[in-house]
Amino acid sequence: MDKPSVVIVGGGVMGIASAYSLARAGAKVRLIERGSFFNSHGSSGGLSRMWRVIYSEEYLATLALNTDPMWKSIEIASKRSLIDRTGIVWFGQPTTSTTEGEIESAMRTMDRLGQKYQRLERDDIQKKYGFDNLPKDYIGVFHDNAGTIHARETQEVLLGLAVYHGVECIEQTTVTDITSTAQGIVVTTVPTGSDKKRDQQRRIECDKTVICPGVLRKNSV
Ligand SMILES: Cc1cc2nc3c(=O)[nH]c(=O)nc-3n(C[C@H](O)[C@H](O)[C@H](O)COP(=O)(O)OP(=O)(O)OC[C@H]3O[C@@H](n4cnc5c(N)ncnc54)[C@H](O)[C@@H]3O)c2cc1C
Repeated sequence: MDKPSVVIVGGGVMGIASAYSLARAGAKVRLIERGSFFNSHGSSGGLSRMWRVIYSEEYLATLALNTDPMWKSIEIASKRSLIDRTGIVWFGQPTTSTTEGEIESAMRTMDRLGQKYQRLERDDIQKKYGFDNLPKDYIGVFHDNAGTIHARETQEVLLGLAVYHGVECIEQTTVTDITSTAQGIVVTTVPTGSDKKRDQQRRIECDKTVICPGVLRKNSV
């Protein structure tokens, strides 16, 4: 490939999805992954993820709603079903804040966004889902615009589409430095595991970078 216009650092789902979107929009993209694609060390490993619109935070709910047509277009392009839209039931204490958010405030967010949902009282949850002796103050919410993402398959599909649109995919290569110069950006790489030896360094000139190294492992850039 000639000089890429964009270098993407990190080939988890975010890097792969960015590569596909940018290449489809006409950019010359090089995607660089430290390990191998679909690795299980990063956040994107594993087979499934939850997809939902029901969040306490309005910006997250809006973001998820905006992705809905994108998911559908990728499913059409790949002729694969990537989300099982089973709906989701979320129950617990109404105002307890967890990493997943808070049930009452999530329902208020759905009201503001005009999203229909089903409120469940404790007895409804017990009857419908076969629980006994749930705490008396439990409530629940069922939202049908949710389901299970086939996480591995989604990455495979997105990478396939990225390659189809001309993305150059490079594995076992670690980005060690990104420098802005008057001419553009210089990305420095080494073969992974080579201990950053100077003679193994490669310099890639590009116009822009997208940095998607994830949050789980110490970032070496
Ligand atoms: C257990 C778990 C459950 C989750 N459940 C959900 C869920 O149900 N629903 C949901 O929406 N989200 C969920 N998430 C969050 C979601 O999985 C992450 O937001 C997403 O996978 C992040 O992808 P990423 O590409 O940013 O990061 P990663 O998948 O971590 O990818 C980063 C990649 O960058 C590479 N890299 C790092 N540094 C360099 C470098 N210097 N040079 C080259 N490559 C580099 C790494 O090797 C890695 O492959 C969950 C996350 C976890 C961990």
